[in-house]
Amino acid sequence: MAENKPYFPHLPQRLEGLEDLAENLWWSWHPAARMLFKMLNRQAWKESIHNPDKMLKELAPEDFLDAENDANYLRHYDLVISQFKNYMAFRGCNVLDAECALDQGVIAYFSAEYGLHHSLPFYAGGLGFLAGDFLKECSDLNVPLVAVGFMYPEGYVKQRVNESGWQEGAEEKLEREAAPISKVLDSKGNHIVVQVPLINPPTFVTVWRVDVGRVPIYLLDTDIEINEPWNRGISARLYTGDIELRLRQEIVLGIGGSEVLEKLGIKHSIVHLNEGHAAFSLLERIRDHVLQGMNFDQALQQVSNTSIFTTHTPVIAGHDIFPFALMERYFHDYWPSLGIDHDSFLQLGVNPEEPEAGFNMTCFALKVAGNRNAVSNKHGETARRMWRSLWPDLPEEKIPIDHVTNGVHVPTWIEPKMELLFNRYFGTDWLDDHDNPLVWEMIEEIPDDELWKTHMWLKIKLINVIREQSRQRWSEDKINPSVVITGGTLLDPSVLTLGFARRFATYKRANLILQDYERLKILVNNRWRPVQFVFAGKAHPADNPGKAILQKIYNASRDPQLAGRIAFVEDYGEQFAQYLVHGVDVWLNNPVPPMEASGTSGMKASLNGVPNLSIMDGWWLEGYNGKNGWAFAHEERDGDRDKADSEMIFTIIEKDIVPLYYRTSENGIPHDWVKLMKATIKSTAAQFSARRMVKEYAAKFYSRALRNI
Ligand SMILES: *Cc1c(COP(=O)(O)O)cnc(C)c1O
Repeated sequence: MAENKPYFPHLPQRLEGLEDLAENLWWSWHPAARMLFKMLNRQAWKESIHNPDKMLKELAPEDFLDAENDANYLRHYDLVISQFKNYMAFRGCNVLDAECALDQGVIAYFSAEYGLHHSLPFYAGGLGFLAGDFLKECSDLNVPLVAVGFMYPEGYVKQRVNESGWQEGAEEKLEREAAPISKVLDSKGNHIVVQVPLINPPTFVTVWRVDVGRVPIYLLDTDIEINEPWNRGISARLYTGDIELRLRQEIVLGIGGSEVLEKLGIKHSIVHLNEGHAAFSLLERIRDHVLQGMNFDQALQQVSNTSIFTTHTPVIAGHDIFPFALMERYFHDYWPSLGIDHDSFLQLGVNPEEPEAGFNMTCFALKVAGNRNAVSNKHGETARRMWRSLWPDLPEEKIPIDHVTNGVHVPTWIEPKMELLFNRYFGTDWLDDHDNPLVWEMIEEIPDDELWKTHMWLKIKLINVIREQSRQRWSEDKINPSVVITGGTLLDPSVLTLGFARRFATYKRANLILQDYERLKILVNNRWRPVQFVFAGKAHPADNPGKAILQKIYNASRDPQLAGRIAFVEDYGEQFAQYLVHGVDVWLNNPVPPMEASGTSGMKASLNGVPNLSIMDGWWLEGYNGKNGWAFAHEERDGDRDKADSEMIFTIIEKDIVPLYYRTSENGIPHDWVKLMKATIKSTAAQFSARRMVKEYAAKFYSRALRNI
């Protein structure tokens, strides 16, 4: 299948490898590759917001001339290009070891969102970043996997907060030409068009491709002329509130996605569903087996043995339920092809606890996929309790929902300056062995002052980025000067800084510390040992309670009584996350348990020596060891939970965090704090790496599924 690559008009032959490099996100987790782009033209790199595709298109011939004649540049270039080529050509055994010869065992990974890089705004939050990190690690470990997702041409909303603190979505159209995406072509060289089978009215998709190292993602796009206007908008935006549009999205993703793999000739014997949005792909798999002569039950068994379903959502309202009438309307041509009738078909999605509610996608996926997991130990318990009625004969602890705790892609989330520091003390090739906890014991070899200086450098960098963003908003959008302050212009790098950034869903309780406003005022205004907070995050465009929480933070950030020590940074995304998780002193996390299935931003912070102050929920129940941060927990309680939790947070900050942070030796190094930073890195980096996670998926599920092909 030929695929056309974008074309960079002025790229000279000597540097033509930059084209392949720019078109594969491999560059995004290799600092030396990023440096190649930056060295071409620092200003253009900055202006492109670190997007090589955009930058290479815009550079003038002179920009390349310098590099082409610079022996130093060429040395770097040749090395990085050869490393990239070696990486891509690697054909050795993968992590599935014994199965590595099985090329028919390609795994198809389905997810409604992917968080990879800010030039590809195909994500809303944690689920997407988990998927993105998963793919990068599968590439590094050479897991034979292809991914399917959506191309959202309208991306996700760009966040703008108006002067009264209300979030207004500014929609940003994706610049398809300035992103590392390429068209997938058919045998005649046209952009491929695939019809979603058996669905009326007829719906078509076209396909784009993103390369994540060795793992391709095929992105479906319904914005093509052949579709009726309504169908064209199916993939316009992530997570629409319109239930019928949402059903169509999920049909396109699951059924259309399977058909696309078929049309591209990509054999896949295993399907992994990242959350239930693509669960209809299981129907396509069953239909395939029925077409080849199995009866429905045999086909179901075969699909069950070779499908993996990962659930991420302990919030009941987070599961899609489609009214039966709607299901009938779209699937009446479909179920006969499975060899079953109307009732048996709809029964597949019935939740025995609420049989009238409709077709529940999570129940459907749990019933049909034989390998199921939650994303942390605690979430496993929660999920087994939530779905126990699907297995009425089993005691709760025997409910077949296992867990694999989430992890983060270490090469992506380790800050390059930190990485350089670790390179000096950890020995060569440590990054290749980064899920080995013993590697991280070497952290003790790093002198305190070096780790501290690196951390301070990152903190200053963060605050500079924040100030620059405010300055630009002021000069470009002429915002009110008091609004400039809300964005963090008064932040001080010498002050103890706590960071909080998440989606602004109400259960994450971003505004928890505003509960006790008086105590907060005292904390931030302490003359000698003040504290400051940086907040960021988006509310879902339809989530007014979430927006109201954001507004409270915003109002606090411009309240003179809090003296500029609370900042709200607009438009949280991948890029700002890269500064924030590395640059604050403490990462704050206070959702209502057990709503946080896992959480991953705290892992990103820990990896860089930023300890967590977190409620006992999600990953922190496994990560906290008494020496690597702070934890608070309550027995389940009702109305006063927020008040009680906020009291505990204040007490920990006042009694433990502030004294420890400000206790420095004569040379200005807070040795006890650095000890804590070391304990943080050492105890979490290996265990919460995507490498440990992917190896666990491979050992628990992929290997088993492969044996069942
Ligand atoms: C990691 C990350 C998330 C997910 O964070 P959680 O802690 O899992 O909620 C969301 N947005 C961005 C930009 C991230 O980097």
